[in-house]
Amino acid sequence: MKLYNSLTRRKEIFTPRFENKVSMYTCGPTVYHYAHIGNLRSYIMEDVLEKALRYEGYDVKRVMNITDVGHLASDADTGEDKMLKGARREHKTVLEIAQFYTDAFFADCAKLNIKTPDVVEPATNCIDDYIDMITVLLDKGYAYAAGGNIYFDTSKLEKYYVFNDHEEDDLAVGVREDVEEDANKRHKADFVLWFTKSKFEDQALKWDSPWGVGYPGWHIECSCISKKHLGEYLDIHCGGIDNIFPHHTNEIAQSESSLGHEWCHYWFHVHHLNTTSGKMSKSTGEFLTVSLLEQKGYDPLVYRLFCLQSHYRKGLVFTWENLDNAAVTYNKLLGRIAALDPNTGAEPDKEAAKPYQAKFQKALDNDLNTSLAITCVYDVLKGKGLDDATRLYLLNDFDRVLSLDLLAGAAKLRAAAKTEAHAEAADYTITGPADAAPEEAEQVRALLLERAEARKNKNWARSDEIRDQLKEQGVVLKDSRQGVQWSRA
Ligand code: AMP
Ligand code: ZN
Repeated sequence: MKLYNSLTRRKEIFTPRFENKVSMYTCGPTVYHYAHIGNLRSYIMEDVLEKALRYEGYDVKRVMNITDVGHLASDADTGEDKMLKGARREHKTVLEIAQFYTDAFFADCAKLNIKTPDVVEPATNCIDDYIDMITVLLDKGYAYAAGGNIYFDTSKLEKYYVFNDHEEDDLAVGVREDVEEDANKRHKADFVLWFTKSKFEDQALKWDSPWGVGYPGWHIECSCISKKHLGEYLDIHCGGIDNIFPHHTNEIAQSESSLGHEWCHYWFHVHHLNTTSGKMSKSTGEFLTVSLLEQKGYDPLVYRLFCLQSHYRKGLVFTWENLDNAAVTYNKLLGRIAALDPNTGAEPDKEAAKPYQAKFQKALDNDLNTSLAITCVYDVLKGKGLDDATRLYLLNDFDRVLSLDLLAGAAKLRAAAKTEAHAEAADYTITGPADAAPEEAEQVRALLLERAEARKNKNWARSDEIRDQLKEQGVVLKDSRQGVQWSRA
């Protein structure tokens, strides 16, 4: 599989360090509010990456943290601690807030068919691991104490800005809107590993440490949680594009300085979903959620399809019109699959299926080209010489990665059509002359069913048209509450 690596800024063949075992780490959500559909774009594309790797036969172990403490990178952060702010807003404790929004996050993920990672670790579970790594960093001279906090000393690194060549002056202050100068720092880019004295005096969660009672900086959790569950080497690290700096840059600084070797080679970053009015912001509370999509009548999987239709390394603009288009595509697609017969009893022709699978895999292999992978679904539906059993076999196979409920969704449509047909037969009776020829009876019946449907939809033009057509044919109609009786003029 070829993947774009943000660290080397080119596409590379993905090769895990240990044979077919892949260690994968994903930065999890900060749980002070609902995830917005922008956050979820990142998690959908990372889910596709994990499933594509599994599809190709890799044995993947995936770990995700839950940021349930702080989210502070420096004492220069202005504003309030986000977890504390969430707790105040909802009159709950920080831990209650964390639990509530963690559950809400996974409920949204389930609706979007995002698999839960093999390991999910809340940051508050791993305080001892942070203390251990910070101790090593201090011992090795990569960290210093100042003003009651422990800072990472970025000047000790050969290269700190590993992802891009930033100008030092542009950074630290002004990287994020909410950062101002922290006088304790020796260098602008230095960041906090452990807080004991902070202007956030009312921090709810604090722990004892060799440096006093306090709490961890934001970045240390990912370095330590990855090491705890995946060891000293990580194959691939994922996150949204905004995580590149400072978060992932600082994770690399901490991990490689403490481990003494390269830590993670492949970095996968998903570009942002924006609205026409700009960036969605969790902290301002102005954002779209999965629940809102549902309230407006959209199946969450329509949003998943919407994401898969574009490449993860391109910005994506959300509009309701775009989502409507995805809904039409999704419903049509399920309709076409519903037209396949799942009960032929035939075995799928696995030889005939192979070229289709190869093309699907090739699309994924090309830096996770999901929109091309979706066209492979249409190839299966259009493919000449494939029987229904083989088509369904292939669609099921592709859905291991796409996770669009292609077969289950189609089965639901089939069941609904059956119920509707039964209801129609029970509610709407069509009677005609006893001596009508079967072909004529069938032709009139089909038109009358269509007329009933048109009337139901208030499509009077079409219903009149049918009446006129039948009149020309010499058929007279008598409507009643139960249905229609036709006779010859
Ligand atoms: P947070 O909960 O703020 O820590 O963010 C969770 C994940 O969502 C991170 O990987 C972010 O990089 C990512 N993210 C944040 N905003 C967006 C967005 N608008 N589009 C896509 N991903 C985003
Ligand atoms: Zn992280």
